[in-house]
Amino acid sequence: MFNLYGRVCHLCGHPGATQADHLDPLANRPNQVPDPTRMRPAHGNRNQVGPGGELFDARCQTCGQACNQDRGAKRLADALAAPEAEGFEDYSDRI
Ligand SMILES: [Zn+2]
Ligand SMILES: [Zn+2]
Repeated sequence: MFNLYGRVCHLCGHPGATQADHLDPLANRPNQVPDPTRMRPAHGNRNQVGPGGELFDARCQTCGQACNQDRGAKRLADALAAPEAEGFEDYSDRI
């Protein structure tokens, strides 16, 4: 997947992504067949397990977000609609 799309996070637009974010979230469709063209690079959370079993901070070093986990099961359009500077807040209480 990283060979196809590189290491720029598709959610915040910054480099250094280490996780594959499912365009159709696993939480919504858990039985989907793994397909790299239906995933995009995204930042991870604070305690991601590395290849050697070590924990490392996979959050974005530019904006500090755990993009993949912050998006969770939101529809992609909803995740991308959030202003970058404010992260992925829930705006439903302000409408
Ligand atoms: Zn990111
Ligand atoms: Zn970022």
